[in-house]
Amino acid sequence: MDLINILPDNVANQIAAGEVVDRPAGAVKELLENAMDAGATQIDLVVKDAGRTLIQVIDNGSGMSDSDARLCFERHATSKIHQADDLFAIHTMGFRGEALASIAAIAQVELRTRQHDSELGSQVIIEGSHIVSQQPTACPAGTSLAVKNLFFNVPARRNFLKKDSVELGHIEEVFRRITLIHYDIGFTFTSNGKVLYDLKAGTLLQRIAGLYGNAYKERMYSVEEQTDIVKLRGFVSRPEYSRRTRGEQYLFVNGRFIKHPAFSTAVEKAYADLLPDHSYPSYFIGLQVDPSRIDVNIHPTKTEVKFVDEHALFAILRSAVKRALGQFSLATELSFDTPEEFNIAPAPKDYVPQQPRISYNPNYNPFRASGSQSHQRKIESFEDLEPLDKPAQIEKPQPVTAAGACLQVQNRYIVTTLSSGLALIDQQRAHERVLYDKLTQSSNQAITQSQTLLFPINCTFSAADAEMLGELLPDLKDYGFEIAPLNQTTFVVTATPTDLKEADLQPFFDQMLSDYKSATLQKFSNRTRNLCASLARQMAVKSGTVLSQEQMQQLVADLFACPMADTSPSGKKIITIVKPEELLK
Ligand code: ADP
Ligand code: MG
Repeated sequence: MDLINILPDNVANQIAAGEVVDRPAGAVKELLENAMDAGATQIDLVVKDAGRTLIQVIDNGSGMSDSDARLCFERHATSKIHQADDLFAIHTMGFRGEALASIAAIAQVELRTRQHDSELGSQVIIEGSHIVSQQPTACPAGTSLAVKNLFFNVPARRNFLKKDSVELGHIEEVFRRITLIHYDIGFTFTSNGKVLYDLKAGTLLQRIAGLYGNAYKERMYSVEEQTDIVKLRGFVSRPEYSRRTRGEQYLFVNGRFIKHPAFSTAVEKAYADLLPDHSYPSYFIGLQVDPSRIDVNIHPTKTEVKFVDEHALFAILRSAVKRALGQFSLATELSFDTPEEFNIAPAPKDYVPQQPRISYNPNYNPFRASGSQSHQRKIESFEDLEPLDKPAQIEKPQPVTAAGACLQVQNRYIVTTLSSGLALIDQQRAHERVLYDKLTQSSNQAITQSQTLLFPINCTFSAADAEMLGELLPDLKDYGFEIAPLNQTTFVVTATPTDLKEADLQPFFDQMLSDYKSATLQKFSNRTRNLCASLARQMAVKSGTVLSQEQMQQLVADLFACPMADTSPSGKKIITIVKPEELLK
């Protein structure tokens, strides 16, 4: 009995589609790339419901002839390569001739296209690989491709889509990866009728500012290098604008976004010790290399690329970034080399602990007002606390009066005494915890105090950030901010919470929104939690800030009143206990 049969094209296309278009962002990428390959100078992206209902890309590129308008939906239909050798000199984004066939297999697609020297264009409607109609039509020169009801015939995939904010986040990321490096092309991005980005053709720096806000123009150093094997151009962030995540790291080769861990290391190495621990530079760097010296024959959705000259490129990249940093900054004067954690060796097993001889005033009790013991909490989870006979308790501190009660070490840790030993408290994390608890409570009770600014301050954002901030305004009001929109991208701030000591509001909001965005993208669904954590992080007193005795005592008191005094909202350890026996040693 014969068992093998050849799959019909529409089934094969539907299977192939899973590889090219796994979510709306995948279709967006293919359509934007096609528009660029067609030589467009203006490309408009329109989505509805994060691409679920509609993805449309309109370009002013070459357009297609009547027969190409039909043929482009066939599998392996491409105008970009003719023979296998062409693979080694690819100058276009696409070349496999799979994208449109795949998209047409899993959506309802309307194509309208006209070549510049034709009077009439053609309209093709195709649904699940079946051509529904083709007819001449009057339309602008160029191509409009509308993808409606993606996955309409693949319920399994449709059901696996994440909620709109997540899918839109993926589309935005695709949009950034393409528009960042194609800054000579104008782009717009409209979502549910709102223009999120309107990017004019211009320079790379203008494009960065268009996507991330004008503040970025002052945050970047330019990097440039030209050798026999590479032409390199881009921007890297000044060390003081480093970030806590690797989010804004963009590397391109020949106009294509790539991920290349070794090259990322090269850039980060160039910063060496200019960066605080656990912070990362932003960079936007484009490489131009001979196409025959890279392997482009890669999976369409993968971003890894192989280079023949990898070692040389690594060195060139690192030294170019190093030079950019050294050339423009006095960076060598900066020092962030404070140790991250205390390392304390465990006491010998048979060691008999004794009380340390520290004089203190037993009558002094800064917690008399706050009273209750109910916040005492076991700490068993610190990885690097040495084994204890019985679980330690965080008890309330008894400040040492003779030596000035609390002590600040390296402007980063507050040292205070407990009967179980010394507590080393990370001031920034402690404050983050205190503010977070206060903010999450105030969202219910509206108790945050506000201070009116002497001079209102204007802050400007990218269209996407401005939209997000707009949505957060009612919440921010609960937390003591008075902010009103001036126009689409500028807001005026007239009041801030009294807890906010930050003078420079623009970076405050930029970083807060970026934290909020990444928290949201990481799929924490609790909006209040995300916002409070982002705010607390920005508002917290930073490591390196000198604190007065009262400030330290207040902070310690506030911290020990928190039910989760030992962990910061982002899950970091706040307190390390040094036991008496360790002190004696
Ligand atoms: P590929 O881009 O790999 O060639 P696609 O399936 O994406 O494959 O597109 C098939 C063909 O359709 C392209 O080679 C091109 O000739 C044509 N095409 C697609 N989109 C456009 C467009 N926006 N403008 C002009 N031609 C297009
Ligand atoms: Mg293509």
